Amino acid sequence: MSEPEVSNSRGALYIVSTPIGNLDDISLRAIQVLQQVDRIAAEDTRHSRRLLQHHGIDTPMLALHEHNERKVVHGILQMLGEGKSLALISDAGTPLISDPGFPLVRACREQGIRVSPVPGPSALIAALSISGLPVDAFCFHGFLPRTSAARKGKLAEVQATKSTQVFYESSHRILYALQDMLEVLGGERDVCVARELTKQYEEVIQGKLQEVVTSMAVDAMRQRGEFVIVVAASNVEEEDGLSMESRRILELLLGELPLKQAASLAAKITGEKKNRLYQLALGKD
Ligand code: SAM
Repeated sequence: MSEPEVSNSRGALYIVSTPIGNLDDISLRAIQVLQQVDRIAAEDTRHSRRLLQHHGIDTPMLALHEHNERKVVHGILQMLGEGKSLALISDAGTPLISDPGFPLVRACREQGIRVSPVPGPSALIAALSISGLPVDAFCFHGFLPRTSAARKGKLAEVQATKSTQVFYESSHRILYALQDMLEVLGGERDVCVARELTKQYEEVIQGKLQEVVTSMAVDAMRQRGEFVIVVAASNVEEEDGLSMESRRILELLLGELPLKQAASLAAKITGEKKNRLYQLALGKD
């Protein structure tokens, strides 16, 4: 008989990844750990019951979500201190990745309590793996801000970055987010929109940003579900010779000043042409 996955001798917190759509995308070890721990802390216990029932797991659950997270940490630490073992799961994918759990893991680490991963699905890695865009270096941003102004500010910050950029987005904002990307990053940027991965209506929409926005804008069905947006790195430096330093200065100023003022001041500091920087700030280079 194989060793039990969960040791009974001392408390441990297992961070268990669960499916992002297809209920069978769960590891054998994840099932064993979820069966053997004393309690499962779940983001939404009703939502997770379906997964647990599907795999014949009847371990008691407790709720840990963004609204009660800081309150329940104390009780969980106490259980772990008594030698109990717990698993943390979220509604989908890997806990803590745009999901609750950070205060708990941090507190466990500070108190020397064992925290162990049971790795598995995450929408970000699934999307990167099928995007066809370079994955040797990437930057994950989670969800973009909700307002267009804040979104554009964030996009301006990453505009010149030399690695693949990954964002999460919901159906409510997918089109607005892509339209803001078009404005700030320009229509020629390669993008891959991964929709409803591992689910019935899985779809991958890829191409130049301009083409992808157009094809999604005319089809309401394509705006439904859950999305990962994978955006190619900037290659503009090679095209226009603007230095990284000039871009960095412009980005910093764009975070503090209106666009025109930022471009004008950046031109004075860097010696670059004002109009060039203005076009860059508009994302029209
Ligand atoms: N912890 C999760 C993970 O590891 O991927 C992410 C949780 S976050 C609250 C939910 C977001 O992840 C969705 O809004 C969407 O952007 C992305 N996502 C989750 N499942 C997805 C799927 N099946 N297809 C595409 N994107 C998905």
